[in-house]
Amino acid sequence: MSAARITLQMVTPAPTDGGMHDAFGRRIDYLRISLTDACNLRCVYCMPEEMQFLPRAELLQDDEVLFIVQAAAQLGVRKIRLTGGEPTVRKNIVELVRRIKQVPGIEELAMTTNGVLLADLAQPLAAAGLDRVNVSVDTLDAASFKRITRWGSLRDVWSGVEAAEAAGLKPIKLNCVVTRGYNDQQVADLARLTFDHPWEVRFIELMPFGEVANFAHNAVVPYQETMARVEEALGPLSVVPGYDGHDPSRPYRLAGAQGTLGFISSVTQPFCAGCGRVRVTADGKLRLCLLRDNEVDLLTPLRRGCSLDQLKALLRAAVWGKPWGHGLANDVVPEIRVMSQIGG
Ligand code: SAM
Ligand code: SF4
Repeated sequence: MSAARITLQMVTPAPTDGGMHDAFGRRIDYLRISLTDACNLRCVYCMPEEMQFLPRAELLQDDEVLFIVQAAAQLGVRKIRLTGGEPTVRKNIVELVRRIKQVPGIEELAMTTNGVLLADLAQPLAAAGLDRVNVSVDTLDAASFKRITRWGSLRDVWSGVEAAEAAGLKPIKLNCVVTRGYNDQQVADLARLTFDHPWEVRFIELMPFGEVANFAHNAVVPYQETMARVEEALGPLSVVPGYDGHDPSRPYRLAGAQGTLGFISSVTQPFCAGCGRVRVTADGKLRLCLLRDNEVDLLTPLRRGCSLDQLKALLRAAVWGKPWGHGLANDVVPEIRVMSQIGG
């Protein structure tokens, strides 16, 4: 994006609808909250195997998460996604889901999970008000799955997907990070699932973060390559009509398939214009763009006893400074955290 365009967009006046907007006129109505930086897997593209996690006292406590959700909801946030690290390893996750879903204004509550614990948790989470899940499944080959996740078992995750569907956490979305040399030759197996299941299988370009940035640089597979591999194996894809530009995943369908395929091209074709999301990290920082290190501390004011109105003012001011566009093409890589600490 050129400097001239940035200047032009930055003079967009702030709308006065009570919601949160940034200086480029984007309305922010979607919050992703990382509930923990800890995880029961060690995916090669996400964290080193010897990863150290933060002490619990440094993470947002349940009441602090609730306070942020309340403030965000009063500022127009309607959709929350819980993520991590692995959100299902958080103590009291079911009760926390119940409390978040009860906050006035929150219409949709989703979770991104590796699925390992879903076989037991899907039903209680659905009963507590969780609307749907994205489950990360990078391959249907058990040996490759183990190689990617280091500690995971495909069988556990598959039981989790089945339990999520039985519990009504629909539509089920499966996330696949395409990683060269690990699962790039197997994408058609996942795509094939959409013939028999009304699921959305989403192929995500690998992004570079912190300590695993070098790995990601060398293993990224452009989405066009993934698309071509799927089409070569399973036939042409057609665009699903009605896409509104807000979801980074543009939907496609194979002929005769019940489900859809999505391609998330954060690296080769960013979707910043439609980005209406911000993130809260497990240690209470508001992260304005996944791929930029700009963050605003919420934890300190929360622990100093700020009021709901003060928190709302802080959120509104912070969101105004949401950056436009990542700098990957110019080698500006997010350095201070890996993905599990941000909440993907
Ligand atoms: N543990 C949960 C899971 O794996 O679904 C939630 C957190 S995880 C950080 C969220 C998503 O980010 C997952 O779909 C994961 O595959 C993806 N992810 C992790 N590291 C990534 C990277 N370097 N580039 C792109 N996606 C990544
Ligand atoms: Fe854990 Fe999710 Fe990161 Fe894999 S991608 S290590 S499951 S946080």
